[in-house]
Amino acid sequence: MPTLEITAMIGCPLKCTFCPQDKLRGLYGKNTKYFTLENFQTVISKVPKHVRIDFSGMAEPWANPNATKMLRHVLEQGFNVAIYTTLYGMSAENRAEVISLLQTHVAQVEVLNLHLPDAKGNMLGWRHSQEYEQNLTAFVQFGLSGALRRFEAMTMDSSGEVHPDLQHLGIKLGSFYGHTRAGNVEEQKIGEQAHCATPEHHSAVVCPFARFYDNNVCLPNGDVYLCCMDYGLQHKVGNLLTQGYYEMFASGGLSALQAENMQPRFSKESLCKTCDRATLVKVGDSHLMWT
Ligand code: SF4
Repeated sequence: MPTLEITAMIGCPLKCTFCPQDKLRGLYGKNTKYFTLENFQTVISKVPKHVRIDFSGMAEPWANPNATKMLRHVLEQGFNVAIYTTLYGMSAENRAEVISLLQTHVAQVEVLNLHLPDAKGNMLGWRHSQEYEQNLTAFVQFGLSGALRRFEAMTMDSSGEVHPDLQHLGIKLGSFYGHTRAGNVEEQKIGEQAHCATPEHHSAVVCPFARFYDNNVCLPNGDVYLCCMDYGLQHKVGNLLTQGYYEMFASGGLSALQAENMQPRFSKESLCKTCDRATLVKVGDSHLMWT
């Protein structure tokens, strides 16, 4: 299913250990830090309506003060959305407006996922506040009301335990098993925590999530990258401020990746060859299909 994740800002203040922010910030450089509302609306005007807009990307969406206006814009434009948020940066006014928007456009909301701070301290930049706790309580009540198609909550802790400051709320979550985002996470930051080691695929590979490599991430300067693994900015698809959506895919940005992925060998030139999500394929006996 095609999706476009919006990275609303660069340099997420939450600094989660499983999220390689330093690498991203260093490679992105001094480009515009926050997605402006004007640039966001230009980008969205290029995107076909069957592409889901994800408020997730490589930073907490509400670390950008315009996030609620952005959400309103895409819902009013008729897009389906998915929201992955820590609620960081969300004021009480934002909370009321966001929940009201989700209620009004409930048929367009495919996922609401709340990412909570955990007992192992993986969300380094999080601090408790009464406003945060009230926002969390309101979103949990809304999620559990049954109005949404899919409501979920998570931590980055193998035990699923939330931060000590929140344990009085009695929230019990499932365990988390991390990964290295195809080799981009600095493993010393996650220490001994359970995670899938970075694989090396020596066969041809395809992405099971995006047959056309169209689960992309858009940065505040309009640059579009392969997917949510690409914190190393290795595979640029194009730029949605300067190109059209299909023009971007036809511009050849992904052709080297596709050629590498076709070949039955390991290659550092393809992020997919170190991705634990990739599907491994080989030529079938009849040569009619890959298996
Ligand atoms: S890196 Fe992984 S998730 Fe991204 S396109 Fe390749 S296989 Fe898919």
